[in-house]
Amino acid sequence: MKIQNYINGEWKEPSTGQFAPVINPATGETIAEVAMSGPNDIDEAVQAAKEAQKQWALVPAPKRAEILYKVGMLLKERKEQLARMLTMEMGKVIEEARGEVQEGIDMAFYMAGEGRRLFGDTTPSELKDKFAMSVRVPVGVVGIITPWNFPIAIATWKSFPAIVAGNAVVWKPAPETPIMAQELARIFEEAGLPPGVFHVVHGDGPTVGNALVEHPDVKVISFTGSNEVGRMIAEKCGRLLKKVSLEMGGKNAVIVMDDADLTLAVDGIIWSAFGTSGQRCTACSRVIVHERVKQELERRLLEAVKTLKIGNGLDETVKVGPVIHEEALQKIDRYVRIGVEEGAKLLIGGHRLREGDYARGFYYAPTIFTDVTPNMRIAREEIFGPVVSIISVRSLDEAIAVNNSVDYGLSSAIFTRDVNNVFRAMRDLDTGIVYVNAGTTGAEIHLPFGGTKGTGNGHRDSGVAALDVFTEWRSIYVDFSGKLQRAQIDTDD
Ligand code: NAD
Repeated sequence: MKIQNYINGEWKEPSTGQFAPVINPATGETIAEVAMSGPNDIDEAVQAAKEAQKQWALVPAPKRAEILYKVGMLLKERKEQLARMLTMEMGKVIEEARGEVQEGIDMAFYMAGEGRRLFGDTTPSELKDKFAMSVRVPVGVVGIITPWNFPIAIATWKSFPAIVAGNAVVWKPAPETPIMAQELARIFEEAGLPPGVFHVVHGDGPTVGNALVEHPDVKVISFTGSNEVGRMIAEKCGRLLKKVSLEMGGKNAVIVMDDADLTLAVDGIIWSAFGTSGQRCTACSRVIVHERVKQELERRLLEAVKTLKIGNGLDETVKVGPVIHEEALQKIDRYVRIGVEEGAKLLIGGHRLREGDYARGFYYAPTIFTDVTPNMRIAREEIFGPVVSIISVRSLDEAIAVNNSVDYGLSSAIFTRDVNNVFRAMRDLDTGIVYVNAGTTGAEIHLPFGGTKGTGNGHRDSGVAALDVFTEWRSIYVDFSGKLQRAQIDTDD
């Protein structure tokens, strides 16, 4: 399969004529080839998007929403087929792939509903015979840059609100996972989206991603990915005075208090730490446990990890799939060595899996460190693999302080039966998302999604908050007094 760009409603070869292999991380096999475009392809897409957006913005929002509704129906019809392709290109287990496609379906129906709202405000004027209101207006051409770990969901979080609000979109997906991008473009086309409103340009970050960021006709960049790249993009957008929304890394913790239901806590930790092989931005990579239950929690976690079946995610019985590629495996392994050198104690795992069926794919054993201190690098830096660090504390105050001590602020969780602990955690944990008696993953699409501190720059994906990224506010004053009324001056007093 040759994956081309989708520009102005047509499938096109990249101007460079170059393609790169797409590898199934479970088997090491090449399953497709993806276009490696150049800046010219971005320019062509942006010019077409700029033209198309003028008409698209004039289509009534409820009509725009009807197309999104059809997109949702098509995603629903093809859920199983899409999930299987997703597992093959990204590696997550099939059950999670189905969940990811479902996120896209949910977002389509939710944002289709927004087409009949897109609320602005009306408010009284300070003057007589004058009307005041504010409305949302589209920004124009939106540039979207996404990572490989959620190849379809993240694109739907960004493109659906952008499109319902009247923008045109140019999307640069991660080169590791272009198949979902191709399928989403096909679905938009079948749903009747006019050509030019949605484009996909494939390629690498420094060439194609950068061309999108620097293009003068792209008015907003919505980026999800690593801190390193996000920071670079933000610097460029700062210079260009371009609006930029960043969703980046995490170092998420589960707090387990001494009154917690340990069975539930173990389920939550295993799901959050080893689901998607730890390659979620919301993955649990720290367990902050009260010293009174540390030993028992460790015993139960070890038992649970030993039952996890690792392998090709297309097998319904597999619970942990491969990681994305060799480079990721090496990074994970490097961090495990760092943890050992720092004096953390390896409870289980800590090595690649190379035997038998594992030989051709990219597999890492689920890994647990204990006796980790909050200042160790494995407790502070994003590893993005199936590695979790256990840190022991003596009180809720200490647990909250340890949780908040990292540079990231995406997600946190607490297991406790004490309502006072719950409300203190809700108030004092400094992350964008807080879970009570659940793991660190499991966001629903109608709530804002994103993080504080090094995880983001104050914007949110999902929920109504997403519309703030893709719209400008316009304040409108209508004076029907028939005379000049000067604000702040011609008041009665
Ligand atoms: P990455 O930063 O390497 O790449 C993300 C995207 O940016 C890719 O499409 C890449 O091609 C592009 N890119 C790379 N260099 C670029 C440049 N110079 N200019 C423009 N674009 C460029 O991230 P990744 O490895 O694909 O994904 C993993 C990271 O994503 C992790 O840090 C994870 O935490 C983060 N993530 C965050 C969220 C969130 O919502 N907070 C969600 C998922 C993943």
